[in-house]
Amino acid sequence: MATSRKKTFDSINPVSGEVLATFPVDSKDIVSLVVETAHEALYQWQHLGFKGRKKVLLDWSSYLISHVDEIAELISDETGKPISDAKLEAALSINHIGWAARNAEFVMSPEHRSPGALMANMSARVEHSPVGVVGVIGPWNYPMFTPLGSITYALAAGNAVVFKPSEFTPAVGVWLADSFSQVAPNEDIFQVITGFGDTGKYLCESEINKLAFTGSTKTAKLVAATCAANMIPVILECGGKDPVIVAEDANLKAAVENTLWSAMSNAGQTCIGAERVYVDEKIADRFIELFVAEAEKITAGAPGAGNYGPATMPEQLDVIAAHIADALKRGGKALLGGKKSVQPPYVQPVVLVDVPEDAIAMTEETFGPVIIINRFHSIDHAIRLANASKYGLGASVWSKRQGKKIASQLQCGMVAVNSTISFAAIPSVPFGGVKDSGYGRIHGPEGILEFTYPRTVVRARFQLPLAITSFNRTYFADKLIVRAIKILKGRLS
Ligand code: NDP
Repeated sequence: MATSRKKTFDSINPVSGEVLATFPVDSKDIVSLVVETAHEALYQWQHLGFKGRKKVLLDWSSYLISHVDEIAELISDETGKPISDAKLEAALSINHIGWAARNAEFVMSPEHRSPGALMANMSARVEHSPVGVVGVIGPWNYPMFTPLGSITYALAAGNAVVFKPSEFTPAVGVWLADSFSQVAPNEDIFQVITGFGDTGKYLCESEINKLAFTGSTKTAKLVAATCAANMIPVILECGGKDPVIVAEDANLKAAVENTLWSAMSNAGQTCIGAERVYVDEKIADRFIELFVAEAEKITAGAPGAGNYGPATMPEQLDVIAAHIADALKRGGKALLGGKKSVQPPYVQPVVLVDVPEDAIAMTEETFGPVIIINRFHSIDHAIRLANASKYGLGASVWSKRQGKKIASQLQCGMVAVNSTISFAAIPSVPFGGVKDSGYGRIHGPEGILEFTYPRTVVRARFQLPLAITSFNRTYFADKLIVRAIKILKGRLS
């Protein structure tokens, strides 16, 4: 779209402070125009049908595979994460594109429903139609994987997309849309707008048909309120305070290694990363000893120098420092690191134990490489502690025999048993949370259907001798209906 864009902002490498690129701060008018062109591009995209869209999406996936080094480098530059982590992020994102492309037609195929005894002359079916133009607002922690969880599924379902990336990772967002335009019949099918929170707000106020948001619960509520004013439905993927339950019969070595990675990789900036560990008191000493020994081996540093990078968003350092300080003030003990671990732009690993359950480090999302390990005396106790959070995104359970039983009692959207975060890498399962972690689902069949609306189509196969939906309905017909409901004991359907 050729149009004059005046105000700009810089994307900055959080490790070096270097300016990577400059982007426009898109105004309300620009956002409206972009959404308008997305509506115009819709016809072409929908006209391609499932097979045509599948081909474009698989071509996009091939393009991304052949440019994986390029996008990984850009992700690493904008977030500060190691290149290998950026490559993993890209690989997982591409996996989702393939799944959504191959499964959209089946998931959206019309379903026949029973019309019931009273309406036996009817056939009934439910069709699934794309909603239209989907707005996506994304975060900076996984600037490719997270937004593509919505963008890919929305495109596969036949929608056009307008994406507003975080102000910290605009270059990744723009690169993604550019890469799509290399294979797409029309570049307006997937467009990017850039800017700050206001640009996101303009998207919520525009003529979009659905909005998918990932970020903080605080901003999610603002987004939902803005969208509500225009009856725009929303999917909200917000933060978490994910618990890990380690039962007495857990494989301790695997539980330690996986939980440490879940908590500290990506500098702890993972919405489904471990933040609280509840370990059976009978094995707690051994677990904690192993955990600290492993955590001592990892460090934060620049890509190539550390196991994980800096806090991508500088303000997050204050949040992390405040959580550590409060936990220690409230009687928690630091077994590794502490307040001094916050060394801008990095945070070295912090392991805290015995932190009161109402300390802010236990109740609010820390989003840093800080893990808290507390003890439980029974499985019921562990489940109660895990469920006490206002969040309900993901969870992990480590147990050889009771994993599934414990998992089914957790109030959250996703649980990994004897593994961590793995549900995010399985495209066929839905991803999302409950409580303050949000609502709606991305990924899987549910993630495709989120970007559709059901249309019921019923058809009279023949006309009944009894006129029911008519002012000519007779006394005899009324009697017959009441009789039928009595004979069928209320089951007219
Ligand atoms: P926000 O929730 O504020 O931002 C997420 C996205 O929303 C960004 O693209 C942001 O744009 C945009 N945005 C901000 N304000 C509005 C608005 N009024 N209307 C529409 N869009 C808006 O997250 P932050 O980046 O500020 O991070 C704050 C905290 O959120 C973190 O400390 C962390 O706890 C949590 N978080 C959780 C994530 C998750 O994966 N669940 C991801 C990121 C953060 P812009 O960046 O330009 O302001």
